[in-house]
Amino acid sequence: MKGFRIFGAAVAFAALALASQAMAQDDQIPTSNGNLTIHPVHHAGLVLTWNGKRIVADPTSFPPGKNGAADFKAAAAPDLILITHEHGDHFDVPTLTDLVGPNTVIVAPQSVFGMMPAALQAKTKVMKNGDKQTYAGVPIEAVVEYNTTPDRLMFHPKGRDNGYVLTMGGKRVYLAGDTEETPELKVLPNIDVAFVPFNLPYTMTEEAAATWVKDFKPKIVYPYHTGMSDVNKFKTLVGAASDVRLRKWY
Ligand code: ZN
Ligand code: ZN
Repeated sequence: MKGFRIFGAAVAFAALALASQAMAQDDQIPTSNGNLTIHPVHHAGLVLTWNGKRIVADPTSFPPGKNGAADFKAAAAPDLILITHEHGDHFDVPTLTDLVGPNTVIVAPQSVFGMMPAALQAKTKVMKNGDKQTYAGVPIEAVVEYNTTPDRLMFHPKGRDNGYVLTMGGKRVYLAGDTEETPELKVLPNIDVAFVPFNLPYTMTEEAAATWVKDFKPKIVYPYHTGMSDVNKFKTLVGAASDVRLRKWY
């Protein structure tokens, strides 16, 4: 049975990869220091540009398992790379090795740091849940990221992984990583732009994600890391509670 399930997942990923060849759409979000540009890449990977800084989150290939650096490369190396956690669809050593430049700062949880070669460790700042630091000129807060449903606890145990809240020109941008709604995240304050995952079995259902969004009320929400989930169902469930923006992630 296990072999069939893995084969099924591979077919689904291949179909999603074909769909991802459509051009991703960039958004401009006004801030007090120029526009923030949001560039979805695929699955959980994205690029933010703001105030002359290039910020990359969770760069990997999609489907994962190959070097995905080309998908995230631009003329200049990233100023900042954020890694939420150690799973292969969020963290990939060859991708990072090709992507970093001489001045790139990587931010990651301790578990990811421990899986890096020395050359990447030398560029990496470890943050744990609750830490606040400024790197590459961007104030960063590491927040919790974990499962709460009993049969999913092994995927993302509490305390290991990081979501991130970035403050850019007065706008608070939240990258959730792979999480469910938790007591801490239910009350995450003043989020202007949120990236929220839903896919089973690793995170949550469309219904659970919509309930969470109605609780913490981000002004704009981008569903990402949604796999084969129904993003239109999520958008309908959220309704007027947030500006739900559906983009090409696959
Ligand atoms: Zn994960
Ligand atoms: Zn994931």
